[in-house]
Amino acid sequence: MPNASTGLHWFRHDLRVTDNEALIALAERVSSVTGVFVMDSNWDEKSEYGFKHMGLHRRGFIEHALGDLTERFKKLGGELLILYGDPLECILELIQQNNISHISYETHHGFNETKQIKQLEDWINQQSLNIELLGGGSNYLYRDEDLPFALENMPDTFSPFRRKVEKYAQVQLPNVTPIAFSSYPINLDRNHVYVLSSTPEIPEDGYNGGESAAQKRIETYFFESDRIAQYKETRNGLDGWDFSSRLSVFLAHGCVSPRYVVQKIKEYESQRVANDSTYWLFFELLWREFFHLQHKKHGARFFARNGIQQKVPPQSQHRLSHKNSADAFEKWCSGDTGYDIVDACMRQLNQTGFMSNRGRQLVASCFVHELGLDWRYGAAYFEQQLIDFDVASNWGNWQYLAGVGADPRGHRQFNLNKQTEIYDPKRKFVDSWLAS
Ligand code: FAD
Repeated sequence: MPNASTGLHWFRHDLRVTDNEALIALAERVSSVTGVFVMDSNWDEKSEYGFKHMGLHRRGFIEHALGDLTERFKKLGGELLILYGDPLECILELIQQNNISHISYETHHGFNETKQIKQLEDWINQQSLNIELLGGGSNYLYRDEDLPFALENMPDTFSPFRRKVEKYAQVQLPNVTPIAFSSYPINLDRNHVYVLSSTPEIPEDGYNGGESAAQKRIETYFFESDRIAQYKETRNGLDGWDFSSRLSVFLAHGCVSPRYVVQKIKEYESQRVANDSTYWLFFELLWREFFHLQHKKHGARFFARNGIQQKVPPQSQHRLSHKNSADAFEKWCSGDTGYDIVDACMRQLNQTGFMSNRGRQLVASCFVHELGLDWRYGAAYFEQQLIDFDVASNWGNWQYLAGVGADPRGHRQFNLNKQTEIYDPKRKFVDSWLAS
């Protein structure tokens, strides 16, 4: 039976109510719950690479997801506050103005996200406040304590990691228990309230954000179209909604948990078919898990030019102070390099906020090997443009392709003409995007 206490759930990359371990734990402990999401003002600032941390496509998606979350949260009995500002400052202000007894949050291994929680914890201790912090782990497949290695001994390449977790660790089952709670009147500085746009920026044929859209996407890709059963053969496609799951946007913002996706894969396997393709979707989720754990292990090295290997990139990568490099970089961003496949992919990214996995590998290879540029600028541009931007997957994949990350081969240069022949033999993709 809950005490007469008041809980705050801090939504960050967990914009869902289903399988939200921390939220569920909070609802079990307290009598009333309020949710808060802070649209970080820092996302509108330019980073040292000259780009914003978040562009319009992603903002539109998040706004949409927050609209959906507001409704779902209301149905459970709670109010969702959406604020704008420095997240930690907003949370501290709420603590000061309200009598909060518990704060819950889903753990996220991102460098900033980890720092935020540490700072919150330190502040609560310094102020000698009696507030209990409840962290949850449902943004990940495995609990830390179930991993068959200590984080510092985690393999730095994917295959040994995969073999170990597949052999010795169990994917957690999602907790889908419906929760219900009541809300409490909250005091807050109204100047910090963020008003959702009534028409969020969503490109035509683009994503709807939110938990409802995530569950619908799983239903469509798995059970309505059976596309999942051909995933391994189609996953290198470049365009459209059928070739891959298109779940990354939902996973990045936590509209669905990865273990919920795994449960749905298992359901599909037991009801329809279990084959190489259904396994391969799980395999790809292990890549996500791998990069997140790598980021947790290596912290700031994920953003360093010399990567986790702490070695000078094998290619001559130039800083962008040189005029030729700056020009080449601008052309790459706008899809004007003269390499057709790269230009088509970059235009697709700029117009939709999405690019296929194959496309990402090709444009990154071009950036590093053909143009000889410093990979971190490419990663920063992706950070601004991608809807599914996920700090570990983005910076981890970029440094992998730049030869300073988790790639045992250390040099992966794609032959762009050959790749076009294989993946776009009739130039349908290239021609349609170059004409745009
Ligand atoms: P599917 O092929 O259906 O895969 C299913 C899920 O597995 C994905 O949704 C994703 O969660 C995970 N996954 C698949 N491939 C990878 C991978 N290589 N690394 C990590 N997870 C993977 N993915 C992001 O989610 N956010 C990023 O910011 C991001 N940046 C990338 C940058 C570069 C340079 C490269 C090469 C890859 C990047 N990826 C990123 C990984 C991958 O390209 C996308 O996850 C995938 O294209 C998303 O489409 P999908 O959901 O249809 O993937």
